[in-house]
Amino acid sequence: MEKGYSITTKPIYGTLVWQKKATHHVVIVGGEGGGKALLKLFQQMVPKQPVSVFYLADDAASNKYVSIVEEMSGESITVCDSQEALTAALNTELDNCYMGTQFYVAGEEKLIWPVAKLLTEYGVDDRNIFKEQTGSLARRVFCVHCETINEDVHHNIHQCVNCGLNLFVRDHFSRHWGAYMGFMVDGETPGEIPPAQEVYP
Ligand SMILES: [Zn+2]
Repeated sequence: MEKGYSITTKPIYGTLVWQKKATHHVVIVGGEGGGKALLKLFQQMVPKQPVSVFYLADDAASNKYVSIVEEMSGESITVCDSQEALTAALNTELDNCYMGTQFYVAGEEKLIWPVAKLLTEYGVDDRNIFKEQTGSLARRVFCVHCETINEDVHHNIHQCVNCGLNLFVRDHFSRHWGAYMGFMVDGETPGEIPPAQEVYP
């Protein structure tokens, strides 16, 4: 990568920190990494404002964090075992959220961006959604040729699961699709595919 060069659309993630001026906190995490972020957040403090916690926990490691955090915080966590269940739970929560609610999301990008999209559909300003990336750096890649989202992409060159074209994974990120753009790699010289490298472990 060229020194000093950056792409403005590429997301920069932070570490979850309570926003003390919020009137209500909604925390959404996924996977083991999300559990660690949740635990670190409650280790900062247990806020005096109401807190709602949603956890997409689909493995044993995640369930460990659910019990640790519930024990130390006294808050009960809504545990969801699928993305669909999480979306349904959030739809109910968002119907009852008002101005002053701060949102916190931690997990892999495949959790962060669908959640961020749902929140913005409810009128939540993206600046009120804190995001922490945890676990795998795998990217979601949008094939610009057939408009398909490819999940769990670890390599810089990826064969689209739908149209089969070999895509070069760009740093350009679309918030609308919640994914990085993938463009045909052999557009100029068909069939000339450079070796793929694992750059998003
Ligand atoms: Zn495609």
